[in-house]
Amino acid sequence: MEEKRSLVAVLRCDDYSEERVYGTMKKGIDLIGGMGMFARPSDHVLVKPNFLHSSDESRAVTTHPSVIRGMLRILQEEGYGDVMFGDSPAMGSCRGAANALGLTDGTYGARIADMSETVTYDFPEGNTARQFQFTREVTEADSIINLCKMKTHALERITGAVKNVYGFVCGQHKAAGHVRYPNDVVFAKMLTDIHRAVGPKLSIMDGITAMEGNGPSSGDPFDMKVMLFSADPVALDTVFCWLVDLDPALVPTNVQGEIAGIGRCTESMIDVVTLSDDGQEEHLTRGELFSRYGNAEFDVVRKGNVKSVLSLWSRIMNRVGRPVIDKSKCLKCGVCVEHCPVEGGAIHFENGKDRPPVYDYSRCIRCYCCQELCPAKAIRKR
Ligand code: SF4
Ligand code: SF4
Repeated sequence: MEEKRSLVAVLRCDDYSEERVYGTMKKGIDLIGGMGMFARPSDHVLVKPNFLHSSDESRAVTTHPSVIRGMLRILQEEGYGDVMFGDSPAMGSCRGAANALGLTDGTYGARIADMSETVTYDFPEGNTARQFQFTREVTEADSIINLCKMKTHALERITGAVKNVYGFVCGQHKAAGHVRYPNDVVFAKMLTDIHRAVGPKLSIMDGITAMEGNGPSSGDPFDMKVMLFSADPVALDTVFCWLVDLDPALVPTNVQGEIAGIGRCTESMIDVVTLSDDGQEEHLTRGELFSRYGNAEFDVVRKGNVKSVLSLWSRIMNRVGRPVIDKSKCLKCGVCVEHCPVEGGAIHFENGKDRPPVYDYSRCIRCYCCQELCPAKAIRKR
């Protein structure tokens, strides 16, 4: 019997007007089977956006509030009566991040999840990780809907549906995870274990205004004007790669995701569906998809990094690239120093806070937590 391909719906969405986003989301979900395929109305549902940290929507750091509202509205209209939404940010609270986006308790009948209480979750079947420190809400949800953001990422090249589940880990335990899983491949394997343990049933990507360049928090907004929908997080991220002309095989979360069996990144196993201008369902090849919705101007690292013995050795040593500080932008706030997960720190102030901190690269594990959390976009991977 022929193996079933993973279905990914891609739809144009020109802006964040609430009606347009809601309408696009309704069509996208219908194209992949309808809401009933992913959760029952009696389920306790957690909608999980990307709240990396508190940020207004114009910076494209977080899932846009129109996307979150669109999802909550659909759930309410379809009779889902027990819905909460939230993420565990690396810095600050879930409520603070939601409020910064103008979201409050009661939005389409849903409540903001607290996401600050840790529950130890044993997962003996894990290939790489056998225990997680999840937020309580993740362990209690019957169904999780993954509202990820289309962004670049210093460690994994991109962050999308697979990476977004790291927000299931309670904020204060995230840094320790980077020490325990200290390179892009091992970290990706750990993410696939999270999917195997408590994977979302539906992933929706906000790619209307994506983030290019120095992501996931210090990059620049880039209008891709698309939304992606799939039950398969790996296929969804693979289609993101196709849209920005990035080889999906260079993204560890794709490769490890397919190996772990949480989804497909092989081209022949992905079926892309869209709607024509007159509303007819159309299936697209990779080339047709790119010519209709893609943009190769999107700034993402495209060069391979395992092509030479030297680069392979560097990769083994986890020394491909390093974080650097642009001294002219640094506020000397100390967020990077405070959040470095390495015991004793790999970045320090020397002689007080009058000068930017300095790295000790011999200790640095290249997790890029400092780059992710710097409020001044002063840290970049070089
Ligand atoms: S977090 Fe950024 S702005 Fe703050 S001290 Fe570090 S480099 Fe400077
Ligand atoms: S200095 Fe930055 S990249 Fe290096 S280990 Fe610390 S947080 Fe991670």
